[in-house]
Amino acid sequence: MKKYVYYFGGGKAEGSADMKDLLGGKGANLAEMTNLGIPVPPGFTITTEVCTYYYRYDKGYPPELREQVDEALRRVEKEMGKKFGDEENPLLVSVRSGARQSMPGMMETVLNVGLTSKTIKGLVKQTNDERFAYDAYRRLIMMYSDVVMEKAAGIEPEEGKAIRVQLENEMDKVKKEKGVTQDTELDAEDLKRLCEIFKAKVKEVLGKEFPDDPYDQLWGAISAVFQSWNGKRAVAYRRIEGIPDEWGTAVNVQTMVFGNMGEDSATGVAFTRNPATGENKFYGEWLPNAQGEDVVAGIRTPNPLNEECKGPENAHLPSLETAMPEVYEQLCKIREKLEKHYKDMQDIEFTIERGRLWMLQTRVGKRNGPAAVKMAVDMCNEGLIDKETAIMRVKPSQLDELLHPMVDPEAERKARPLAKGLPAGPGGGTGQVVFTADDAERWFKEGKKVVLVRTETSPEDVHGMHAAEAILTARGGMTSHAALVARGWGKCCIVGCGALNIDVEKKQMTVDGKVIKEGDWITLNGTRGIVYEGQLPLVEPNLEKNEEYKQLMTWADEIRKLGVRTNADRPKDAAQARAFGAEGIGLCRTEHMFFEPSRIRAMREMIVAETREERRKAVMKLLPYQREDFKGILKAMEGFPVTIRLLDPPLHEFVNLTDSQIKDLARELGVSYEKLKARIDSLHEANPMLGHRGCRLGISYPEITEMQARAIFEATADLVKEGYKVFPEVMVPLVGILSELKNQAEIIHRIAREVMEETGVQFKYSVGTMIEIPRACVTADQIAQEAEFFSFGTNDLTQTTFGFSRDDIGTFLPEYLNRAILKKDPFQTIDQEGVGELMKIGVQKGRATRPDLKIGICGEHGGDPDSIDFCHRIGLNYVSCSPFRVPIARLAAAQAAVRNK
Ligand code: PEP
Ligand code: MG
Repeated sequence: MKKYVYYFGGGKAEGSADMKDLLGGKGANLAEMTNLGIPVPPGFTITTEVCTYYYRYDKGYPPELREQVDEALRRVEKEMGKKFGDEENPLLVSVRSGARQSMPGMMETVLNVGLTSKTIKGLVKQTNDERFAYDAYRRLIMMYSDVVMEKAAGIEPEEGKAIRVQLENEMDKVKKEKGVTQDTELDAEDLKRLCEIFKAKVKEVLGKEFPDDPYDQLWGAISAVFQSWNGKRAVAYRRIEGIPDEWGTAVNVQTMVFGNMGEDSATGVAFTRNPATGENKFYGEWLPNAQGEDVVAGIRTPNPLNEECKGPENAHLPSLETAMPEVYEQLCKIREKLEKHYKDMQDIEFTIERGRLWMLQTRVGKRNGPAAVKMAVDMCNEGLIDKETAIMRVKPSQLDELLHPMVDPEAERKARPLAKGLPAGPGGGTGQVVFTADDAERWFKEGKKVVLVRTETSPEDVHGMHAAEAILTARGGMTSHAALVARGWGKCCIVGCGALNIDVEKKQMTVDGKVIKEGDWITLNGTRGIVYEGQLPLVEPNLEKNEEYKQLMTWADEIRKLGVRTNADRPKDAAQARAFGAEGIGLCRTEHMFFEPSRIRAMREMIVAETREERRKAVMKLLPYQREDFKGILKAMEGFPVTIRLLDPPLHEFVNLTDSQIKDLARELGVSYEKLKARIDSLHEANPMLGHRGCRLGISYPEITEMQARAIFEATADLVKEGYKVFPEVMVPLVGILSELKNQAEIIHRIAREVMEETGVQFKYSVGTMIEIPRACVTADQIAQEAEFFSFGTNDLTQTTFGFSRDDIGTFLPEYLNRAILKKDPFQTIDQEGVGELMKIGVQKGRATRPDLKIGICGEHGGDPDSIDFCHRIGLNYVSCSPFRVPIARLAAAQAAVRNK
């Protein structure tokens, strides 16, 4: 016979902690604690398989279930010396949900099940407390009618007509009649009367008697918990957390223990270490004479668990340590036992019934980033876990909290979100809203903090983006311009926030009917993609002083196999990345260097030139600038390789001008407006991302490649002469055909020879290519004949593999994710089945030609932990990501090494 029910109690349990899939987290841990000899009120768990069955067979149960439940119930009765439904000495139970992964508050619970008009007499006799018994009864009627008779029955009452509200009104009436305000001021007689009123009301509103049979109550409650697995809240939560529908919930039926039986009773929650700081200190709260729900509900200020964790809000209240020293001592021992056993910080719930301690729950406690790092390192140093376990304990994304200012979590908890977008740049940012890059810069110069809000950004906004505390755009995806630039600077940024209706002319935006004007304050949580109105406080990081962080990263570096480089275009960003542990530059996008006012003119002159001669003259004006750029960046990364990519974007991006700007430029260049306009118009492309860009530019305009190669090699020669060790790697973008690469490589090698001859300096360099077109993956064996290294440009490779425009995916991606057509944004996490397969082909074919071919990745995926795991598995040499993701990549690479040992 299949086993659907697992008993726990009296020091023995049929389940254990590793049975979470079957028993849910709560049930598995109750079983484990029982086996550890920790006092747990006896009970049993109905498995998640019953939940699956329930939904598969139209809310039916396996035929064996009833007998198994009865049998388990008999064992509980025996253990407790009480009987379910007994008039003399009744057993009462709680019925709670418990999924594989905790879903706090998303499903239902019913307490005091088993109280009926008959058993209540026994409860009065046993407790000698009539008031207590009737208080428990009225709570049951309220909870049961709400959860089982109304919600689980699918009744959706009108506003204000819910049974819970109607019963609360009845209770208020009784209090009013008596002239009291608090529930606690009602005596036994009042509560007795109230129970009768409640039952009559239930009948009147729901058309059914409140069940007076304990087994009816029990099965009603069990069904209601299964039913709540598909409640609106639970379903919405599962979507957000990515929990599969088919997991189902278990149901835990457990002996009731009461924390509200007088001053020697209590209830509390605690963490075996401080979850906010990670300190190895017992931390928690308790309430004397209260039920568990009272602590969570926050009606009374809870007391501190011990003297050490007193805060300003509860310092005047007695701690459990002083109020019940013996129980506290016992709890401390359990804390030790649990940590030793689970080897991780636990979040526990307990109840004290008349001086006797009972544990109701233990689970791995949630913690913030700094606490996660501290606990992992401390526990390793204490000998509780090994280095590899410590490495696995910290989610790479949690490191973000150590690197960026964060919105104060406490303030955020109380704030109401204004809108939601894609979390493009992590951390928190707050400032006054401005709508143009020029305004951002001007306000910044006046000493103001601004958030730049744009429909989308373009390279021309860069100065304003730099001045802004944070960036918010209405359009664009995770690899849009705003996202790339913000991430590169470690700036807080939210993109694709569709709810914004921006009116740049009026300098205001409307969001959900609300008008936000220039100068109004907003706050962004770029880690979660949430926008708030007003100014929320931020918490600043301090990495240098964080010894545990440094220790953890040292361990990560020992373990990882992948190298970690950075994507950086400026010496300052390169230095930042180096401080974060980058071992070279994987992508220097040279186009970002052309937008400064002093250079853009020469660039435009070059673009509009009509003859090769004119073009060469204009482009050579850029040479000294580029040489200085490359010197700066090579120097900042001295000792490490620096991959410099030749010009990539379509030229029209540099001449995106208004009519009056064209007129000005025409005057400056001494050509007619008409002629210039015609030339600019001729650059227009219907599909620029698939147009005249990448190596196609260098092939049409070889002088651009010549100038860039010359700038790179002259910078290199200068630095080598000065005694620096520099290793430039020249990278050709958007190659799909071997002959494209050959064409460009020939120019690059020729210029290298020329510069060596001219300067008399010998230097090392290599020439390689981006792999970002499916054809390049498929013909990688040919391309590797010429390329000395590959770097996967997974932004473009994703774009070209799916045929999704990386700039426009925001228009349909939310729909795709909602409908689960895509599980994840493929521009954030590599699509392993499609794009990943192409990468595998590229690696295998490339190395077939050139076994020692160095292969990296420099698309945005290079900073994404799941993608990094994939890159480890397919044997890449390194990943490259924006500076602020370097620590995340180091940790993720170490985790990949541990996971795939
Ligand atoms: C890429 O395509 O992945 C890449 C790194 O290049 P870019 O984002 O500059 O097109
Ligand atoms: Mg690209």
